[in-house]
Amino acid sequence: MSHAAELDAYWMPFTANRQFKQAPRLIAKAAGMHFWTPEGREILDGIAGLWCVNAGHARPRIVQAIQAQAAELDFAPPFNMGHPLAFTLADRLAQIAPAGLDRVFFTNSGSESVETALKMALAYHRLRGEGQRTRLIGRECGYHGVNFGGISVGGMVANRKMFGSLLAGVDHIRHTHDPERNAYSRGQPAHGAELAEDLERLIALHDASTIAAVIVEPVAGSTGVLIPPLGYLQRLREICNRHGILLIFDEVISGFGRTGAPFAAQRFGVTPDLMTVAKGLTNGCVPMGAVLASRALHDTFMTGPEHAIEFFHGYTYSGHPLACAAALGTLDTYAEEGLLTRGAALEPVWTEALHSLRGLPHVIDIRTIGLVAGIELAPRPGEPTRRAFDAFMDCWQQGVLVRTTGDTIALSPPLIIEERHIAQLVEAIGTALRRLA
Ligand code: PMP
Repeated sequence: MSHAAELDAYWMPFTANRQFKQAPRLIAKAAGMHFWTPEGREILDGIAGLWCVNAGHARPRIVQAIQAQAAELDFAPPFNMGHPLAFTLADRLAQIAPAGLDRVFFTNSGSESVETALKMALAYHRLRGEGQRTRLIGRECGYHGVNFGGISVGGMVANRKMFGSLLAGVDHIRHTHDPERNAYSRGQPAHGAELAEDLERLIALHDASTIAAVIVEPVAGSTGVLIPPLGYLQRLREICNRHGILLIFDEVISGFGRTGAPFAAQRFGVTPDLMTVAKGLTNGCVPMGAVLASRALHDTFMTGPEHAIEFFHGYTYSGHPLACAAALGTLDTYAEEGLLTRGAALEPVWTEALHSLRGLPHVIDIRTIGLVAGIELAPRPGEPTRRAFDAFMDCWQQGVLVRTTGDTIALSPPLIIEERHIAQLVEAIGTALRRLA
């Protein structure tokens, strides 16, 4: 492929376009644990595409479900209409969701799920006569997609600073990243439950009667794999309960088996009022997201006049037939292969393998839970280039795909991963780190 002309038109997302186009990394095919480049080079997928291909690539059941659905019903209008698969899927999701989160609203992405959940929270309070609860609380180092609500409650600087003042009435609690006290944690770090009390600071500042909801990722992925300290989410839940504030978990990356349980809420034993999901819902095959709402929240919407639309919100492609078919094929695959809990079974092997990188050049922290890992490298003071990005490039040359976020190498492989793949992944990263030195 001659590059210049063919690559110019595509303005790539989340990419250093000019750098990429000098030496493109292209992927042409995928199956199971692997991608292949157009030249046929095999690449081990260490990140499940982007935390989404949890059952591995090109799974026949999912492929067939999409193909059959495209021939049967390609689109169903979402205005006062429905199609059977969307109801079936909502019901299936409610069965694996944390107890009590059994009402499902469909979107097309994680970002849309976040906007939907935030709007549900605002509308819920208004319906209950508490319309003054308009304030939204996020967390530093939070990532909640790229739409305006999400970047407002999010705490990722690069995601916010180009875009002006964002949503009004938003505040942030402190993040929980504490490599000094919690370095090399396996599973939940021991220290930091008290950081949840930072919410009390904002409640004292703004008054609880102005606060609608708090949104956090149970495990923050995009800002470097930050795992909640033991007891932290429980305390957040208690504080929200005490003050009538809704708790939203953004499970876009932590859902569908990533932490060793179907959802992180179950792994950590804390149930939110609203939960956003996407990615693993369809195994990444067709764009789809969802918001799972508590029965109580949902029922608050169902009390007005019966002929009125209860929640004037949705997308042309909400509950799209192809996405529903893909999601049902995905849930079948997860169930048949026990993938939603496989991460728990593999966690000891995964943890040992990843922590064996401790002591290699530049490594300052390793964080693991389920089938997730973050390997944090020492920053290069005053230099824009990151060691983690150099490691990513080296791994790519070695035929292994990892992800970088800041100074952290992030891993989230398909849940079908075998021990030999884990060994290959760790070996490649080790080689890259030694070469970096
Ligand atoms: N929330 C979280 C926690 C995420 O990690 C992401 C994506 N990485 C999103 C929301 C946004 O999802 P999408 O890219 O599908 O809009």
